[in-house]
Amino acid sequence: MVVVGGGLAGLRVVTELRDRGYAGQLTLLGAERHPPYDRPPLSKAVLSGAADNSTLDADWTALNVQLLLGKTATALRDVIDAGGVVETDAGFLDFTGCVIATGATPVRLPGAGRQRVLRTIDDALALRAALRPDARVVVVGAGWIGAEVATAAATVGCRVTVVEATDAPLGGVLPAEVGAPTARWYADSGVDLRTNTRVAAVHDARVELDDGTLLPADEVVTAVGVRPETGWLAGSLLPVDRAILVSPELRTALPPVYAVGDCAAWESARYASRVHVEHWDTALRAPAVAAANLLGGRERYDPVPYFWSEQFGRIVQYAGYHRVADRLVWRGDSKDSSWTVCWLRRDSLVAVLTVDRPRDLAQARRAMERGEQVDADRLADPNLALRDTLAR
Ligand code: FAD
Repeated sequence: MVVVGGGLAGLRVVTELRDRGYAGQLTLLGAERHPPYDRPPLSKAVLSGAADNSTLDADWTALNVQLLLGKTATALRDVIDAGGVVETDAGFLDFTGCVIATGATPVRLPGAGRQRVLRTIDDALALRAALRPDARVVVVGAGWIGAEVATAAATVGCRVTVVEATDAPLGGVLPAEVGAPTARWYADSGVDLRTNTRVAAVHDARVELDDGTLLPADEVVTAVGVRPETGWLAGSLLPVDRAILVSPELRTALPPVYAVGDCAAWESARYASRVHVEHWDTALRAPAVAAANLLGGRERYDPVPYFWSEQFGRIVQYAGYHRVADRLVWRGDSKDSSWTVCWLRRDSLVAVLTVDRPRDLAQARRAMERGEQVDADRLADPNLALRDTLAR
């Protein structure tokens, strides 16, 4: 078996294959020179200086995996039911089963000036060294990563400007009315947030906005999203629509090939839609399903998606899939220190976002997993435990 991609999802696949009794040859190929490590700490503990690395625990001797680090898959070829070939910059790897876990790569902006991104441990250590008191830092994008970078830069004492193309922070992923209250967090931390502002190009020491304004910058951090790493699959006949398209079993259109993590979009029966989630929990959990099915199982992956972010001293958590919702219910006032937003479809909870309300998150997640209905009027009362607002 060959697993392509040495991140969390790749490591979880090889671990699950061994835990489930697979005793044959196993190769894990990763383009980075580092053994698999966790990415969430990069924009948190690593950037703040509380940690220098986030290597994931793995007993490589017990796993008995051929670990090919610093090696890149360049093509997938000759795939038939019985197997195929992964072409790499270090030769060919024959397989009977293959899992693609190549993750995603940050999108960059036009322009020849230096722009940093934050995806790898090397990016994080280099950015950390560049964040000095008084440095003028322009962060492009007020999404999850942009908010966390702005938090770290402001904490160090940088002069931080965040440029966001939409109406509100998190505008690329959440409705403006939900992201808008977080604008205050930027202001309270001394960060200059500019919404409805687009970057035309990054030049040396300057960011050019599309109205021609030039923002001086000692450091530019581009955090405008990622693109699944699928370019190497061109010509493989594998259906890709931004991400690799997989079935509920996480199988691609080529039977011995599976895909998991940031690079894959699965068909969800729960949401009657194709779901693509670029978050840690998916990279953690989907591999168990792919490994089980590679070994002859018939498991389906259909979770309530979950992720969290730590920004400006707050824990923001999200569970569910709000795109299928038909209304929104607030629990608490967004001017308060903690609050929750719930999305409903008819009387069922389909998504929740919490700010420093972890109990709401846990109880809502459980309710969504069980498909329980809520009483929307009671749900709006933040003083009632969320589980006590479920319709019995
Ligand atoms: P990746 O972690 O991207 O791993 C893929 C690996 O495959 C990479 O090492 C890549 O180099 C390698 N690769 C790519 N192409 C090839 C190829 N052709 N050949 C060989 N190897 C290849 N999620 C949350 O839920 N909460 C958070 O707080 C959070 N914080 C984050 C902070 C940062 C800075 C980042 C970058 C991400 C964060 N995430 C967070 C997202 C989460 O880390 C990702 O969803 C997760 O890492 C995805 O894991 P993956 O294994 O699918 O992909």
